[in-house]
Amino acid sequence: MATVIQDALVVGLDPASVIEGGVRIEGDRVTAVGPGVCPSAGDESIDARGAVVLPGLVNGHTHLYAALATGMPAPPRAPTNFHEILRYVWWRLDRALDAESIRTSARIGALDALRCGTTTLIDHHASPECIAGSLDAIEAGLSDVGLRGVLCYEVTERNGRDGVAAGLAENERYAARCAGRRAGRFAAMIGAHAAFTMRDEDLAACAALAHRFGGGVHIHVAEDGCDDAICRATHGGGLLDRLAASGILKIESILGHGTHLTADDLRRVNASNVRVAHNPRSNMNNRVGYAPIDRLARPILLGTDGIGADMFAELRAAWFKACDARVAVPPDRFVAMLAENARAASERLGVRIGALEPGAAADVVVTDYVPASPLTAGSLAGHLIFGLSATHVRTVLVGGQVRLRDRQVVGLDEPGVRREAREIARRMWERLERITLG
Ligand SMILES: [Zn+2]
Repeated sequence: MATVIQDALVVGLDPASVIEGGVRIEGDRVTAVGPGVCPSAGDESIDARGAVVLPGLVNGHTHLYAALATGMPAPPRAPTNFHEILRYVWWRLDRALDAESIRTSARIGALDALRCGTTTLIDHHASPECIAGSLDAIEAGLSDVGLRGVLCYEVTERNGRDGVAAGLAENERYAARCAGRRAGRFAAMIGAHAAFTMRDEDLAACAALAHRFGGGVHIHVAEDGCDDAICRATHGGGLLDRLAASGILKIESILGHGTHLTADDLRRVNASNVRVAHNPRSNMNNRVGYAPIDRLARPILLGTDGIGADMFAELRAAWFKACDARVAVPPDRFVAMLAENARAASERLGVRIGALEPGAAADVVVTDYVPASPLTAGSLAGHLIFGLSATHVRTVLVGGQVRLRDRQVVGLDEPGVRREAREIARRMWERLERITLG
């Protein structure tokens, strides 16, 4: 039996396209798209009623472990700079995580993502008190909701040499696990926190693991000026020198943020063709400044950096941030960020994401957004920035399975899961409050 979505404005992101008609899904793939696609006897039919249908969105850089942080207690002392924000807030939160809260965080983050039409998350995880098996816990949380993930554990020396070894081992274990499985649902990258909390040998070890498993390193880079400053003061070399020497600067890698890349850094990043993930709301929240997105040569990824998974909201924030900063970036480049997210996920997962065409993954978002002005490939950016939002997401399929139907989560007692999470979060916050400032 096939599933057919009919009477749709079928949008593609990679490349930007709009086709009126239907989408036929058989198994986990799209098999036909266009005006002649209608349900046959025995097919399940979903009537889009003339609304936009688009591919499941991808979050290009996030931290699912932050999903239970909403409203968490303030640190005992107010941070005065980015390094203190990390030490007082995020590095205490990640130390409070245990296996139960990691899985629950991922499950809640996945539910939030599903409701926003985000079906794949490229995650960057840290839980220093529970490293071994943590990526399996995240996978389990995502699987509870039926989403896809590209996962890694962020290696860092901030919890000692044992933490480095355990982080590398977790990346290696999970990458080996993914390599032995059928492509599609989950894939690994090799995670690294940031160069300023790692020795040269640890950066090189991450790059070597990535090379062995045919992937890249996912690492925070120049989120704040302290990254380069601490590299020079403590590790004897500039940030980009160290990344280049380690072998991390290559197309398969993801550099999170790039907020403080200098002109010379940008030249080297552009020459290497490495991907940079832009996270405008997080950058504003952490007061770290604005990434030079107009000077990055290749398409940029877009991520929420743990502030939910609403890619419509992140796209809109990216646009308004650029306008506010008086940076001239054409609207199409923002749609290209969503396309690049899909491309990065497709490369890791081995399935085509970001387009609704025969052979592509059947990750489909049915909205109730019926545009009141012409919607074409040329006007798509305007509709994505000023029209569509997560509130329009009605029904979501992942790999051909309906996971959200008419705004109801399928196969999961969502209110029950959220109530249970609240108790787990309460216990996690208690642990957090017992962790002293680093
Ligand atoms: Zn991040």
